[in-house]
Amino acid sequence: MAATPDLKALTSGSRRALAKSITLIESKRAQDREAAVSLIETVLPHTGDSLRIGISGVPGVGKSTFIESFGLNLISQGKKVAVLAVDPSSPIAGGSILGDKTRMPELSRAENAFIRPSPSAGVMGGIAQRTRESILLCEAAGYDVILIETVGVGQSEVEVYGMVDFFMLLMVPNSGDDLQGIKRGITELVDGVVINKADGESMGLAMQTKQFYQTAFNIFRTNEAWKPKILTCSALERKGLDDVWTMVCDFEQMAKENGMLDRRRRDQNVAWLKKLITIELEQRIMSSDEVKQSYPDLETRVEAGELTPFSAANQILGLVFSEVTGREQ
Ligand code: GDP
Repeated sequence: MAATPDLKALTSGSRRALAKSITLIESKRAQDREAAVSLIETVLPHTGDSLRIGISGVPGVGKSTFIESFGLNLISQGKKVAVLAVDPSSPIAGGSILGDKTRMPELSRAENAFIRPSPSAGVMGGIAQRTRESILLCEAAGYDVILIETVGVGQSEVEVYGMVDFFMLLMVPNSGDDLQGIKRGITELVDGVVINKADGESMGLAMQTKQFYQTAFNIFRTNEAWKPKILTCSALERKGLDDVWTMVCDFEQMAKENGMLDRRRRDQNVAWLKKLITIELEQRIMSSDEVKQSYPDLETRVEAGELTPFSAANQILGLVFSEVTGREQ
């Protein structure tokens, strides 16, 4: 069993207690899950006060460099900053987001920073769900800003969007003919685009890229209280970071005043509820003795084409719920 974290130490800001608490919620052991759920319940009254910022972008765009510089900037303003990573692309800990201390050397040494790498795949309930719980734990430990980093590949962006107040996309200066960054799906998610590496010879191209995205967003996102802003910065030279923070603060103020922030969090909670039901249900079904016994054979038969996935799934559900097949248990 993972050690039970000290609640008082956690809420008084101990990084050690926070790290231990996250280890508990990431535990794969069924018996730890109960303690984890009770921990989350207990800390709930101490949560909700941070600003949760999602930061996405393809590998190499400068996410680590940006988080290091941006995080230090916030710390210099007296904030406590936590960094969490969501990286479903890594089958084992240490994929394309390492989240380790070497990526953000200065930030990881700062007293008011907490950096946690992505949980390894296979944690109970999935990486995104555990990250959601880690956010709550960081809030209970008094972190003001929580940066949730994700690689800009597919599903992880949507998952991170579902747990943050502000979703930021990092881009690099480009000629604009490559439309990967303004895929329809992404334009609907982002609250701000930051074109990084706006330095040296790339300065001109960065300004062009900014114009290009500004036009694209003006077309895609009309009639909204908040129009995504497009900014440029250099994470390496630590320039433009104040503007990024101002953008986030402007958004927060607007979203608090018009109720959008509250609504977003409520919607996220409802989505989280639905997701949790699915996760818990799957876990319970798959851990039933009858299912454990029958599953390997059914999977083999589906693989061999002898059985349709639909029929196999129905048989499995039938082992647990009589009403699915109409059979008495
Ligand atoms: P990540 O994969 O998105 O986390 O990207 P990294 O932060 O590891 O950065 C990838 C590369 O881009 C590294 O060589 C960085 O030094 C470089 N880089 C990051 N930010 C900037 C920047 O603002 N300007 C320039 N010129 N290079 C940068």
